Amino acid sequence: MLRIYNTQTRQKEDFVPLHEGEIRMYVCGPTVYDFFHIGNARSFINADFIRRYLEFKKFKVTYIMNLTDIDDKIIRRANAEGVTAAKIADTFSKEFFADITKLKVKKATQYPRATSHIHEIIDFIGRLIERGIAYVTEDGVYYNIAKFPEYGKLSGKRIEDLQEGARVEVNEAKKNPLDFALWKMAKPGEPFWESPWGAGRPGWHIECSAMSCKHLGETFDIHAGGSDLIFPHHENEIAQSEAATGKQFVRYWMHFGFLNIDNEKMSKSLGNFKTARDIFGKYPAEVIRFVFAQTHYAAPLDFSENAIESSVTGLQRLQNCADRVAEFATAEPGTFVPSLDFKKYYASFEEAMDDDFNTPKGLAVLFDFVSEVNVALSNSEKPTKQFINNVQKFLKKTADGVFGILKTRKKQSGNPELEDKLINLLITLRTEMKLKKEYQIADLIRNELNGMGIQLQDTKEKTTYKKN
Ligand code: AMP
Ligand code: ZN
Repeated sequence: MLRIYNTQTRQKEDFVPLHEGEIRMYVCGPTVYDFFHIGNARSFINADFIRRYLEFKKFKVTYIMNLTDIDDKIIRRANAEGVTAAKIADTFSKEFFADITKLKVKKATQYPRATSHIHEIIDFIGRLIERGIAYVTEDGVYYNIAKFPEYGKLSGKRIEDLQEGARVEVNEAKKNPLDFALWKMAKPGEPFWESPWGAGRPGWHIECSAMSCKHLGETFDIHAGGSDLIFPHHENEIAQSEAATGKQFVRYWMHFGFLNIDNEKMSKSLGNFKTARDIFGKYPAEVIRFVFAQTHYAAPLDFSENAIESSVTGLQRLQNCADRVAEFATAEPGTFVPSLDFKKYYASFEEAMDDDFNTPKGLAVLFDFVSEVNVALSNSEKPTKQFINNVQKFLKKTADGVFGILKTRKKQSGNPELEDKLINLLITLRTEMKLKKEYQIADLIRNELNGMGIQLQDTKEKTTYKKN
């Protein structure tokens, strides 16, 4: 039985979906004002492991991830660059899709955008006003938290403590300093949409309440996001949705631990900020995913190049086994039947993953499996086709299907000499570009080669390459 740690009840619970065999899941997606960073990547990949495992368990998963495509950060960047907010959002939505595809994150069922749901958002705010939960001021529509006695139930925060800690409020029109904006009236020069309360744009929290309700219904199974979102974002989503519908909003709340760099919080000011792209240039998606899977989703993860380097060998063991088995699959089969208990491995894998998606334990099962397979393959007799098929099936379902950490074997290139010449030509071009400070082109060459499984290694004297 699958058990999930529910942030709201602070305990592991048996997982029972609202509709048998189906799971509706919502994950807070990116604000598209820049390339996403490696911390965001961890959250997207953790959510992907969870979704893939639910599919492994044969659930039909409806997976929704929103894109926040209107917000202060987007407007600020648009103004700085002299373009529209829509242009910034469009550019970085495309970059987001390019990056998650490279990271082998499975596509969501849908990626709703805030600006395509203004109508639904306005309706939702209208419901809250009708119920006396929200009020209109000169600069916006606010949620009156005093009207929702359960406010604080997700984060475990008490309203009184929050109020004491709240900054001296500049906005006197608000009834309570903790009241938050559902609709922000447009300031000069800001993009806006018409509404019954005046031209403006939606607040961030309301977008997730309105879009999850539209795509998943008033009550759904799983809502996930990074642990920074517990308060206030998810607390506010609960307040909005439950006050509007009178029903339970989410059955299981899941939160991902943060990623730190060399034991420090990642931030632009500390100079340790890494976009996902910085990492692709150096390591393939499988390595990044493997590094993330080695830590449970809820725990903090310390990301360092040393940690990645030491993971590469572990992953290589799995890959080597898969490659060896693939070779056996194309060779003449034998008659040897190794005594490997596949059922036991499936059961141990499920047991590990059923325990709140314990990916490190799931990987440990894979390693035990691979050790036993290696012993079987070293036997002087060749194994049967059936055995090889079963090994491939197990790896395909687990290492590939749930974790996305195996590469499919590439066929040998037809002309290795020409390939070598072409790669070296690209290396020369890249060196020239770096000399001319055309770093974007230089990085493009390195990243594209990396995507083809060719890793460049720079030393002071020269650049060499290695094939994965
Ligand atoms: P944002 O674009 O900042 O709204 O973040 C998108 C997702 O990434 C959210 O689920 C965040 O909680 C998550 N996130 C942001 N920073 C980190 C981090 N350092 N580690 C893990 N997840 C993060
Ligand atoms: Zn959200």
